[in-house]
Amino acid sequence: MRILVVEDEVRLARQIAAALTEAGHDPITVYDGESALDRALQSSFDLIIIDVGLPGIDGFEVLRRLRSQHGANRVLMLTARGEVKDRITGLQLGADDYLPKPFAMPELVARVRALGRRYAEEPMLSLHVADLVLDLVDHRVHRGGRLIELSTRELTLLKILMREPGRVFTRTELCERVWEHPHEYDTKLVEVFIGRLRKKIGDPPLIRTVRHVGYAIRESS
Ligand code: CA
Repeated sequence: MRILVVEDEVRLARQIAAALTEAGHDPITVYDGESALDRALQSSFDLIIIDVGLPGIDGFEVLRRLRSQHGANRVLMLTARGEVKDRITGLQLGADDYLPKPFAMPELVARVRALGRRYAEEPMLSLHVADLVLDLVDHRVHRGGRLIELSTRELTLLKILMREPGRVFTRTELCERVWEHPHEYDTKLVEVFIGRLRKKIGDPPLIRTVRHVGYAIRESS
């Protein structure tokens, strides 16, 4: 895969590039956010690895701008150790995966391989469950041709469910992945948002309540 590595620690950036090259990839390294955006505009990459802590515009801002310009790039964020908030912010902004620092190179290579597999299996331009369609490029949701207006949080929640149809998510996991302060669990909030989504998505219902566990989205059988 053609991979853009955005990491300001030169030594680490070189180690990452070396590990990716050894694994058969084609990495290009830049050391700040501006250069990353320039590069991404000039040519296309299968994957972009972005460190959150960058001089100038930080990794989140790079991700935000990338997402507004080229929706379909795969992005792996490198976050500071234990920064749950960072990892959630990254996922909310549309990162495909995150890896906390410090990490072992084989783990990075494994994550890259997993993202590459997902990429090869499906272009991931949209998610589908029955006649419900979530466009990952322009972030619009349609059902049977009807446009459904969603708030950012509703969209994030729906995206999590639709990426893995049939999988049961606990309220706690959904809470952690959608909201910024996972230590202030308020799983009632998840119930409220699920209720809103159900109302907006309409009939026949697609979001199931799995008693004592949580929620899953799937076509009625
Ligand atoms: Ca850094």
